[in-house]
Amino acid sequence: MKVVVLLGAPGAGKGTQAPLLSGRLGIPVVATGDLFRAAVRDGTPLGLEARRFMDAGQLVPDQITVRLLLDRLARPDAEAGVILDGFPRTGMQAKALDEALADRGAVVCAAVLVDVAAEELVRRMSGRWVCRAAGHPYHEVSSPPRVEGTCDLDGSELYQRTDDRPETIRARLAQQLGALDDVLEHYRTSRVLRTVDGLQPIQDVADAVAAAVNGAGACAD
Ligand code: ADP
Ligand code: ADP
Repeated sequence: MKVVVLLGAPGAGKGTQAPLLSGRLGIPVVATGDLFRAAVRDGTPLGLEARRFMDAGQLVPDQITVRLLLDRLARPDAEAGVILDGFPRTGMQAKALDEALADRGAVVCAAVLVDVAAEELVRRMSGRWVCRAAGHPYHEVSSPPRVEGTCDLDGSELYQRTDDRPETIRARLAQQLGALDDVLEHYRTSRVLRTVDGLQPIQDVADAVAAAVNGAGACAD
């Protein structure tokens, strides 16, 4: 089982890069933010619980998030491996993932940080539009869709996330960047952390991410 983790601050470009890497590696993307948004849309008890935290720009508690992720990893399409986008986001989540993978004789073979300066994160999130069907991200200035309001990849409608309002953007950055440092430390210690410059054009970032994964010996088949 090949498990690649994409790390980065909110707005760094994880959701943009994940499908590109998925195309290269032939394994699916699992994005906890998308799983939570689907639960909110479906009005499930988990969605109602998660929504309070998402609307406030806070992380959803670890216990809820880990359960959601492990249920998703148990599905058959995750057997050969996954690209994780938005998980782990705390040191405790990183440990829980390692333990769950150890039970299957697997490890995180690469953790790639998409590194972007804080000022740019605000610009990216405030111009972000995502698609209803799969959450594919666009940007009104730097990465517009071919047809306004429509996803290039699946034709679904584009919308702006409620947590991409300026006040929630500020709350997310204030509350989530510290926890990201703990996750970076976790993967630095296990020697799988690689950093790519996320300020480059999307395709160049994609090449750098792919090179980082291919260069990680543990990710070889
Ligand atoms: P972004 O990529 O812009 O940070 P996501 O779509 O990944 O946003 O996540 C949206 C929200 O969902 C987060 O602000 C948080 O409230 C919640 N969330 C997603 N993943 C996690 C996680 N691993 N742990 C805790 N909360 C999470
Ligand atoms: P994350 O999943 O890390 O929160 P996204 O992939 O949703 O980030 O990207 C945030 C915003 O920045 C989106 O509007 C996206 O179109 C835009 N974006 C992503 N990568 C780049 C890039 N390399 N250059 C310019 N804009 C980008």
